[in-house]
Amino acid sequence: MAETASDLGGARPYRGRLAPSPNGLLHLGHARTFWKAQRRAEEQGGILILRSEDLDRSRVRPEFVSAMVEDLLWFGFRWQEGPDVGGPVGPYTQSERMPLYCEAFERLRRSGWVYACRCTRRDIHHAISAPHPSDEEPPYPGTCRDLALQPGPSQGMTWRFRVPQGEVVSFTDQGFGPQRFTSGVDFGDFVVWRQDGSPAYQLAVVVDDAAMRVTEVVRGADLLVSTARQLLLYRALGLEAPAFLHCPLILDESGKRLAKRHDALSLRALRGEGRLPLSIRVGWG
Ligand code: GLU
Repeated sequence: MAETASDLGGARPYRGRLAPSPNGLLHLGHARTFWKAQRRAEEQGGILILRSEDLDRSRVRPEFVSAMVEDLLWFGFRWQEGPDVGGPVGPYTQSERMPLYCEAFERLRRSGWVYACRCTRRDIHHAISAPHPSDEEPPYPGTCRDLALQPGPSQGMTWRFRVPQGEVVSFTDQGFGPQRFTSGVDFGDFVVWRQDGSPAYQLAVVVDDAAMRVTEVVRGADLLVSTARQLLLYRALGLEAPAFLHCPLILDESGKRLAKRHDALSLRALRGEGRLPLSIRVGWG
C-alpha cells in the first residue's frame, strides 16, 4: 500500500493565518482557535495573515465582512497582512484571487487529476448504502470517474479530484499527534471545482496557503480529514505543504459543535452584553 507522509513546516520564517468565512457572525469557537493561531505566530516571532474566505456567494454578505474585521479587532486580534492592511502576497480576499485558482485547476486538469461529474447530491445519496459520520460527506461512489465527460465551455459541471484508492495519507498534527487516513475509504473523490464556476474550499485553501507561504495552519479539528485531502492536492500541484495544528472544537451543552447558528455566543452578542475579551480569554493560556 502506498503511503504519503508529511511532517513538514520546517525552517522557513513562521507565517500563520486566520481564515474566516464571512457567511455569519464569528463566535467563541472561532475566537478560541484563532487565539491559538495568534499565539503560535507570536511565540515564533512570525507573521499572522487575515484571509477572507468569501467564495460561497450564496451565503456571504457584505455586513458579515465588516463584522468579521470589527469583531476580530475588538477581541484583540492583530494581523500584519490582510484585506484591510494589504501585504506582499495579496489580495487577501478569496473572491479576488480567481486567476490563481483557475491556473491551479488547469494544471490538475491537464495532468488528469480531476474529472467532470454530473451527479447531484441526491444521486450520490442513492448510490451509497453504508451510513457515514454526519460531519463528513460520504465518499463519492465513483459514478463518473471513468466516463471522461467533456463539458462544453459554457456548461457548468462539478469537477472532482481523483484520489488514489487505498493510499494511506499520514501526517503528524502538532496538536493531535500522528494521523492516518486512507484515501478512497475515509474520504473519496472530492470536489475541487463547483458547478457554479467557483473553486471549492479544498482547492482554494491549498492554493492560498501555498501562495501566501503559510508555514503552519492552525484550525479546528473538524478539518483533520480535509488535511489528508489537501496533502494529496499539494502533492499533485507540486507545492510544499505547511505544518498543521488542529484545535479541539468547543461543544455546546448538547455536545454539538458551535456553529454560526449559536448567535448567543457570537463575539458580537458577547460584546453587546458588556463582556470583556480579557474575561472571555481566562484559562486560554
Ligand atoms: N474558512 C474556513 C472556515 O471558516 C476555514 C478553513 C481553514 O482554516 O482551512 O471554516
